[in-house]
Order: sequence, then C-alpha cells, then structure tokens
Amino acid sequence: MSAAPQAPVVVAIDGPAGSGKSSVSREAARRLGYAFLDTGAAYRALTWLGLERGVDLDDAEDVVALLDDFPYATEVIDGGTRVRVGEHDVTGAIREPRVSAAVSAVARIPEVRIALNDAFRGMLRGTAAPGIVAEGRDITTVVAPDAPVRILLTADEATRIARRAGELGPGSAASAEQLRERDRRDAQVVDFMTAAPGVTTLDSTDLDFEQTVRAVIDLVERARAGERDAG
Ligand code: C5P
Repeated sequence: MSAAPQAPVVVAIDGPAGSGKSSVSREAARRLGYAFLDTGAAYRALTWLGLERGVDLDDAEDVVALLDDFPYATEVIDGGTRVRVGEHDVTGAIREPRVSAAVSAVARIPEVRIALNDAFRGMLRGTAAPGIVAEGRDITTVVAPDAPVRILLTADEATRIARRAGELGPGSAASAEQLRERDRRDAQVVDFMTAAPGVTTLDSTDLDFEQTVRAVIDLVERARAGERDAG
C-alpha cells in the first residue's frame, strides 16, 4: 500500500520592507527544493492594474471592483519568477517606485486582503513541491498561522535602508523616505514588527545574506526533526 501524499511543509516568513525577506526566502526555498510564494507581488500587481486603469486607489470600492477581472499569474522561467497580469509581464513594472508608493493604499482595504489571502491559501495547498516558503507581512499570523515554521525576519532601520539603497542604486535618499513611509502605513494594518506567540524572530542586522539563508534553513530543519521525533 502506498503512503498517503504528505501535505506540503509551509514555511511562513514575515517582515518589514528591506529586511531581505524576499531574496532570503527565495534562496532558502531553492536550496530546500520548495516552491516560493511572494505575496507582496500580488498586492503590487493589483496596484499596477489600478494605476494602469486610472483608478483612484483611495477609493476602496473602485479598487475592490478590480478584483473581478484580475488575471494574476506567476510562472517560473529559467529559475526566475515572472509575474503576469493577463498578457502583460509586469515583473519589472511592479517594482517601480510609483507602485511601491501606492501599494499600501491598496493593501489596507479589508476586502482586498480577504480575497488575496484566500488565493494565497489555495496556492499553499496546491503546490506540487514538498514544501513552500511564503513571505509577506501577515503570513505567520493570518494566512498560515498553523505553519510548522514561522519566522519574523527583521533588521534595524538603518540596515534595511542601506540594503534597499544597494538594490536601487544611486539617488536613494528618496527611497529611504519611501521605505519609512511604507512601513509606517503598512504597520497600521498588520503588526509585522513584533513576533506573534510561537513565531521565531530572526534579526539579520549583523548577518550577511548567506548567514541569514542558513539560519532560515536551520529553523526549517529543526522543525522537521522535531516533527519526526514527535511522530
Ligand atoms: O513585500 P513587498 O514589499 O513587495 O510588499 C509590497 C506591499 O504589499 C507591502 O508594502 C504591503 O503594503 C503589501 N503586503 C501586505 N501583506 C502581505 C504582503 C505585502 O499588505 N502579506
């Protein structure tokens, strides 16, 4: 008799902008052979669609109406994830400053969060990989509070600003201000600066990329070993 297929291991990672969560989560997923879910990309893609259609993003009703025709999809090509809205490849466009500046307004709308969270939970269940690393702001608390591995990845503000500046290149004074402002607005909706009970805080201020990836993988391996001992 063959064993019942195991549910994918969910690794939930939250944290503020610039904590390195995206790149660390992606690399940890790659090394573990797990899928990767960047939930911020969906909020960004919906924001991109709103800007494209000229929607007033402060008008919750108009933003919620966008969800009726939001053909969001991701695709892994040559090891990189492409993000699509219908026939548009928006992988680059969703990282533009105009989207980063507007995304918090979209993410604060409860109906948007409910719809996207439902979609994320479907993606977590539906992965064909043995596990999936999902990162965002409320994965450890709202989307997957029962995940066996839940991590809050933080770094002090100066470090996060410096990392973001490194990603964006010169002219980063404005981006520092934008990061602070985005964190401030996002924090009004979800508390991603303090770990919920049972969530492990991983402070990467004094860790480099490799050390942070290893720390995440360590936590996954320890949780898996604990599960095996218990089972
Ligand atoms: O992670 P990233 O910085 O790409 O997220 C973009 C934006 O999407 C955040 O600033 C936040 O407004 C929103 N977001 C969210 N909940 C998540 C992921 C992202 O509200 N789980």
